[in-house]
Amino acid sequence: MSDIDVLRDRMDEVTLKIIELLNTRTDIAKEIGQVKKNMGKGIADEAREDSLRASVITLCNNIGLDEAIATRFLNLLLNESIKVQQTNKQTHLSIFAKAKSLESQGKKIIHMEVGEPNFMPPDIVKKALGEVFEKGFLKYGQATGMPAFRQTLAGHTSERFNVDIKPDNILVSPGARFSIYAAITTLLNPGDEMIVIEPAWPAYKDCALNSGIKVRTISTTLENRWEPTLAQINALINPNTKMLVLNYPNNPTGKILNQTLQDDIITLARKASLYILSDEIYCQYAKTSPKSVLCYDYEKSIVTQSFSKSHAMTGFRIGYTIADCKIIEKMAKLQALCLTNVSEPMQYVAMKALKADISSNTNTVQDRLDVLTRKANEIGLDFVIPDGAMYLFARVNQEGFDGVRFANSALERGLAVAPGEGFGDYGNFVRISASQDENTLIEGMNILRDMVSDNQ
Ligand code: PMP
Repeated sequence: MSDIDVLRDRMDEVTLKIIELLNTRTDIAKEIGQVKKNMGKGIADEAREDSLRASVITLCNNIGLDEAIATRFLNLLLNESIKVQQTNKQTHLSIFAKAKSLESQGKKIIHMEVGEPNFMPPDIVKKALGEVFEKGFLKYGQATGMPAFRQTLAGHTSERFNVDIKPDNILVSPGARFSIYAAITTLLNPGDEMIVIEPAWPAYKDCALNSGIKVRTISTTLENRWEPTLAQINALINPNTKMLVLNYPNNPTGKILNQTLQDDIITLARKASLYILSDEIYCQYAKTSPKSVLCYDYEKSIVTQSFSKSHAMTGFRIGYTIADCKIIEKMAKLQALCLTNVSEPMQYVAMKALKADISSNTNTVQDRLDVLTRKANEIGLDFVIPDGAMYLFARVNQEGFDGVRFANSALERGLAVAPGEGFGDYGNFVRISASQDENTLIEGMNILRDMVSDNQ
């Protein structure tokens, strides 16, 4: 046998051994998953992962292996463990699906689980829908979006945030959800790390997990008014860290960061050369206008926006990304691959919707949040008054309170709320959405009050 054949045989042997070990590791992960379930413990355990990461680094130092390769490999293993342990987590969407099914059987449900405004899109949208045919928006279009729409969005964004945004900095997407997926999967590689500050909208984590990207989470607390510290973020940054996700006004807490903290976070991310994915779809719903990440003029920032909430156009599936043109190009390639282009009739309609005055939506949502806040105070729930968005994230102070059980029994009483567990390790919280008119919200909160007092 030649030298290369001998080496290749050894290489095969080692590779097969690694696969066998992977099988053993996966079996152990499944068993651990079962034990965690029996103990009522969550799946991710950052402290445990940290200690394993430290052991891997020590081993790398001892045997002379590149730490970056080893930790990226470890990240893939950790993600696999999470995947095999993941049971059907109950989120706002699973409660929504159950609520819909109960409705189809004739049950009346008050929807306070999803962030879907119950008011109508602006009137101009109806007219624009009628114009689509005669204007000829009926054919394939550009993956990045209709030129006229990108131009309008660039102008609108520049004016709104006092920045200089060009059409090349805009990517029209079928909802901010796809913008987020495209940003995470095209800018990061398997084994890379992304920091998410919890509680958080679940899709950031799910998009990353789906693409082999490791999520490092920071759990913020109600006691600290949902603020992360710089030290917490700093402690997670290593050479594999590539992105920090921000979402203010936040879903589910409604929090807006104080500006000094936000400035410091951006400085830190810039120093570590991280992408900043700033999901700003709730910026229309805020007591005081939050500072957009666009204002920092950082070339690695990606800002997402949507018509879903601001214009009550959830079903139209229209959102957009604002970023450096090189980032837009990368994301557009994925969009071309997956979608060809976003439906042009919907782009046309959204372009027209931008002309509408939507300030009354902001007031409506704020009034509704005030109603929720008042009712939650009466019930004695623990929460931080939201600065914006359209939710109240509240803790029910009862021994052994379980948000999932609560959300399921609330359905039987005709109320849908989202269990806190969907947003991180917040099993004793529920998220209440301000998406109904005030009287309906009061009706829903009364059901919640009765349930809480029945549980005492
Ligand atoms: N980001 C956040 C924080 C959200 O809450 C949602 C939807 N609930 C989205 C993005 C997705 O919005 P879209 O409908 O534009 O896909």
